[in-house]
Amino acid sequence: MQNKNEQISSLIELNEELENYFRNTIIPQLFIDAHLILRKFTPPAMRQFSLKLTDVGRPLADIREHFRFPTIMENIQHVIDTGEVLEKEIQTTDLRWYQMNIIPYLVLKGKKTNGVIVTFVEITMRIRDLKEQEKLIAEHELLLDTISHDIKTPLTSLGLTIEMLKQLPEKGMQRFPVLLEKVENSLIKMQHIIHDLTDSREHEHRYKAVEEILDFEHILEDVRLTLAPQIKEANVKIKTDIGFSEIVFIRRKLRSAIYNLVNNSIKYRSEDRTPQILIKTYKEDDNMVITVSDNGMGIAESETANIFHKYHRVSGSGEGSGIGLYLVKEIMEASGGRITVSSELGKGSVFTLYIKITN
Ligand code: ADP
Repeated sequence: MQNKNEQISSLIELNEELENYFRNTIIPQLFIDAHLILRKFTPPAMRQFSLKLTDVGRPLADIREHFRFPTIMENIQHVIDTGEVLEKEIQTTDLRWYQMNIIPYLVLKGKKTNGVIVTFVEITMRIRDLKEQEKLIAEHELLLDTISHDIKTPLTSLGLTIEMLKQLPEKGMQRFPVLLEKVENSLIKMQHIIHDLTDSREHEHRYKAVEEILDFEHILEDVRLTLAPQIKEANVKIKTDIGFSEIVFIRRKLRSAIYNLVNNSIKYRSEDRTPQILIKTYKEDDNMVITVSDNGMGIAESETANIFHKYHRVSGSGEGSGIGLYLVKEIMEASGGRITVSSELGKGSVFTLYIKITN
């Protein structure tokens, strides 16, 4: 049995141990009583929230702006009222992220909540990492979409050319070398796409590509070459009116955007007339504007808002995956630009790209 003096001295010892623990903790912690008065805080809390020793004993309401988190009072009151632990990821008004835990400070005897202990663990870096990860995943997804979409055209070209080769009559053999060259072009195109992809694995982010000064006429030439078999087969007439040609952009992305628009104009042509496509560029304010107009089947007004959604396809529109326009929109928006459409069912469509001129 301890006598009274011994009891008191062991209590003092315990208290000293607690005080030492308290002083040395690296975690910001606040002790707040049931009347919402600040009773105690750890030194890191003092630094983190610019508290002064004289703030001990003050109502939290008077110093709440130190915590830079708007609902802290409500949250504490809730824990006092219910006795339930509250765990929350919060963003303070200075844009830092914390894991905030509010634990009821229980008085075991009366089983009542006599206050709360608020603990903050900074997780700004973790949240930043998570956001970065999300961005990477989205980029990855877009990359995969772009590749599978880009590879489809040379494949279709290959198929079409092989068909033409098969139907070549004996006396048409002089066209053989031309068609063979088309087969080879499609093959090279696919090899490039795959090469870019494997390259990106070896040298991180190579496929991510860099911006460069582009000549729009060259981009157009690339697209025409890629689509040559389709253009020939559907007897498409392409006209251009290039009023502005130099732009800083990622080559692969601009090519992909133009290719998608021209490819769509061919795919969704009207069977009643010779397909005509006009590609026009000009400067307007700080933008390079590119329009791709066709005299194709057009798009019903009720559909124009949806066609930019991923996997959205207008019913009965033949072969396709519904990601082409989504990709173009993503490419445009990622660079601060945009895409619009105006179309009339049965008459044709105009797709317009606005690209910010940055230099
Ligand atoms: P996909 O062509 O693979 O279906 P897109 O995202 O490129 O996917 O196009 C979405 C839809 O928008 C198409 O299914 C088609 O109905 C419509 N569309 C796109 N471009 C045109 C166009 N130039 N003329 C008519 N309809 C078009």
